[in-house]
Amino acid sequence: MNDHEFYMRRAISLAANVPDLPFGALIVDGDSGTILSEGWNKTSLNPIWHGEIDAINGLAASGGGVEGKNLVLYTTAEPCPMCQGAILWTGIKTVVFGTCIRSLQRLGWRQINILAEEIVRRSPAWNCTLIGGVLEQDCDDLFQRAMLQRAASSDVVSVKSSGDSVE
Ligand SMILES: [Zn+2]
Repeated sequence: MNDHEFYMRRAISLAANVPDLPFGALIVDGDSGTILSEGWNKTSLNPIWHGEIDAINGLAASGGGVEGKNLVLYTTAEPCPMCQGAILWTGIKTVVFGTCIRSLQRLGWRQINILAEEIVRRSPAWNCTLIGGVLEQDCDDLFQRAMLQRAASSDVVSVKSSGDSVE
């Protein structure tokens, strides 16, 4: 198991806090390997409180500062445009994700149809490396399970979700 897989396992554990919205994230100091903050989806409290935002808020609250740090964010799914923007503004240098936005869409998850790569490409003032597909199958399984669970608990939600996901 390499480092990326080690930290992605942690992101998957964090996602277990919200099995119906299994978005877990953590921020690691890429030089020391120290975990600086952890988060998961809290949109039940605030619609913009995605897992990555939770981890970034945790980092800010820790007061450690980000200047000169080699920050790496791990997340179970590719960041949405809001989160990828926040990641750039935070100065995070590397993003490692499991499931990609295309897979979320295929599984019926509502997504803004802009990939993280496009946000990075259109932001030449920042350097941010994206690494996708780490423990991809494990992460895909989380999102597939959550969507099946949702469909089972409400047919209405299931129909609506698949309608929304059409590109
Ligand atoms: Zn997001």
